[in-house]
This record gives sequence, C-alpha cells and structure tokens, in this order.
Amino acid sequence: MFDLIVRNANLPDGRTGVDIGIAGKKIVAVERNLEAQAKDEIDATGRLVTPPFVDPHFHMDATLSLGLPRMNVSGTLLEGIALWGELRSNATKEELVDRALRYCDLAVTQGLLFIRSHVDTSDPKLVTVEAMIEVREKIAPYIDLQLVAFPQDGYYRSSGAIDALDRALDMGVDIVGGIPHFERTMGEGTASVEALCRIAADRGLPVDMHCDETDDPLSRHIETLATQTIRFGLEGRVAGSHLTSMHSMDNYYVSKLIPLMAEAQINVIPNPLINIMLQGRHDTYPKRRGMTRIRELMDAGLNISFGHDCVMDPWYSMGSGDMLEVGHMAIHVAQMAGIEDKKRIFDALTVNSAKTMGIEGYGLEPGCNADLVVLQARDTLEALRLKPNRLAVIRCGKTIARSEPRIGELFLEGRPAKIDGGRDYAPRH
Ligand SMILES: [Zn+2]
Repeated sequence: MFDLIVRNANLPDGRTGVDIGIAGKKIVAVERNLEAQAKDEIDATGRLVTPPFVDPHFHMDATLSLGLPRMNVSGTLLEGIALWGELRSNATKEELVDRALRYCDLAVTQGLLFIRSHVDTSDPKLVTVEAMIEVREKIAPYIDLQLVAFPQDGYYRSSGAIDALDRALDMGVDIVGGIPHFERTMGEGTASVEALCRIAADRGLPVDMHCDETDDPLSRHIETLATQTIRFGLEGRVAGSHLTSMHSMDNYYVSKLIPLMAEAQINVIPNPLINIMLQGRHDTYPKRRGMTRIRELMDAGLNISFGHDCVMDPWYSMGSGDMLEVGHMAIHVAQMAGIEDKKRIFDALTVNSAKTMGIEGYGLEPGCNADLVVLQARDTLEALRLKPNRLAVIRCGKTIARSEPRIGELFLEGRPAKIDGGRDYAPRH
C-alpha cells in the first residue's frame, strides 16, 4: 500500500508512461503499470514529472525590495549596490523575514524547493544574517535554504568586514562567500580569495564566491580561486558564481584556465538573467553579452548550474522565481538551441544544481526523497519553451502546491474551442 502514486508520467530522461510510487517521505517504486493501491493518486498522463527546481545563487535578503528606498535609475550594478547599502542599514529583521517568506511562497508554486542564498554581512549589526537564519528555520518543512556569508562591500575594502564574516559563520551561516573583483585592487582581491579559502578549510565549510562579475578580460580571480581550492584540498566544495570576465578573456588564456578549473572541480554558477542585464554596460556597439563560456565549460566536464540571483530587488526589477525563465534566457544567450543542448540546460536547473548544493536523496529513483513537480508540459524541451504551470508540487510525499492547467478558450467560428498551448502545439520529433 502506497501513500501516493503519480500515474503515467513522462520523466526528464525521456521515459514515458511511468508510475511513481511513494511511501512516507520516499520514492519506493518507479515503473510502468505499477500494480498497487494508494491512498491518493495523481494522474500525470502526458505530463513531465521532474525533481524540484534548484536555485544555487540567490539574494534572499534583498528580494522583493524593488523601489525601496527608490528605483535604480541607471540600472547598473554599482547603483544597485549603493541603493542596497541605504536599504540594508534601515531594514528591520521583521521586514526582511516577511519579504523572504513571501518570496518562498512564490518559489513553492514554481516547484523551486532548494535555494542557496548569499547574505550580506557588511553591516556590523548583522540583522540580515539574523533574519535569514530565522527564515531558514521557518521554511525548513518545504524549502531547503543554504546561506552564504557574503561580504558584499568587500572583505578588505569595507572596515569591519573581516570580523563580521567570522561572526556570521559563528551564528550558523553555512558557506564562505567573497567578492574579489570588488576589492580595491587586483592584489587585495587575490589576497581575499586566499584568506576566505583558508577560513573555509579551517572550519570545514564550502566556498561560493561572486567571482569576476565584470567585463574586464584581466579580472582573473577564478584562476586564484581554482588554485587555492587545490592548495587547501577543497576540490568539489567550491563554487565560482558569475565568472562573466571569462566572456571577454583571451582565448589562449582560457584554454589554460578551463583545465585548471576542472582539476579543482569548481562548480560554475552563471546567472543568465542578471548577466545579460548588467554586463557590457561600458560598451557602445557591438555590446558584449557578458555571460561565461557555458558550452566550453560543460564540454570540459565542469558542473554548471544556473542561478536566478535576483527577483525584484535593487539590481533586477524582473523575475518570478521561475527557474525555467532562467534556463530560457540561458538557451538564448549561450546560443544552445539544439535538442541535446536544451537537455543540458534543463540539467543545469535541476541535477547539476543539486550537486552544487550537495543535496542528498535528490532524484526520481527508488530511495530518493519524495520531492517532485508535475508540469503542464510533455518533456523538458517543452518545459523550457513554455515555462508552464506547475500542476502539483510534492514535498516529502505531500502535495504542497497546485495550479490549474493554463487553457486558452477560443470563440472563433470553425476553430477549436480550447487550446492547451503545450499539448496542441508539440513538434513531432
Ligand atoms: Zn549574486
């Protein structure tokens, strides 16, 4: 006897007509024509069922603060940082918690159940850290939240940042962050990478740095990050977020850099929505895209996962917690439109990100956690194209969100009365 059976599902690996049997909080059977009874059943005929979406790079302390204290007029990263500096020093813990919880409500309806958030540790009061630790506890039944201590104003550049980062880690923040390209000089950026990797090694923590988020072809902190990763034996536990300078680097140099990153097993986290919005701002025309070299990094065997980064905050006025929107942008900016390309992009929103975050029991095999999402799409390619509704979101075997399918009604003589955008327009391949 099962608690729940999801019937007749299409899986991300291409299997169709599969039944998923759940007992308690675990998946215990994944097979066709599962002959068993369950207390509850979900009919997923012709629908894609996937493990939950995973966002490995977000800013939960700033989300939904758009317009506070005023809008970002220039739309640049630097004005965004200045605005956030003003907001951060005035925001109360209650406001920060309330905004984060509201974002998480939205995330759940989008099937986004794992989030890694950077938390700004620049203000010595660390109200942001207190608030995000409270959020992490409150949402634990439905979202796994990892927190990164992020010295946003610079580890050396901002007075008090060294002490504040240590205190944040003492308070229970999970991961060591950094922002070497924002330090005063390349030399101080290099030194910050070394110091922060040393802290991670001493404390036994992972590292996730905003790294080379610039169009400067000579911003090369990722080289230092990879080297220090190897030096401190942190292979596989270090993430380099953004890496946009790699877009502009010399090709010969990159041919040496990528194998070094592979040796260090760096997890690469591009943020396509934010990168295409913020990079290339100093260019006239032609304008650079400013996203890192996704295809080449994938080809070299590196683990690539995409982050949403921002939703309605001082840096980005858009966003809806939909990781498929992130993947949709990645397809365009990385020019990865082939069928196999898109499958790799879908992995970068799910299994690759789960690896980056070290999530245990993630997947759709017997023994995995009963966390899954039913989408109004036939397969992963259609999901990326349509960004469809999440018909059911299941966490630990329980349905925690539902959406109605998006159906268009037509009132045209001689034409169909209803249209299911996915089902009725699927290509024959
Ligand atoms: Zn970020």
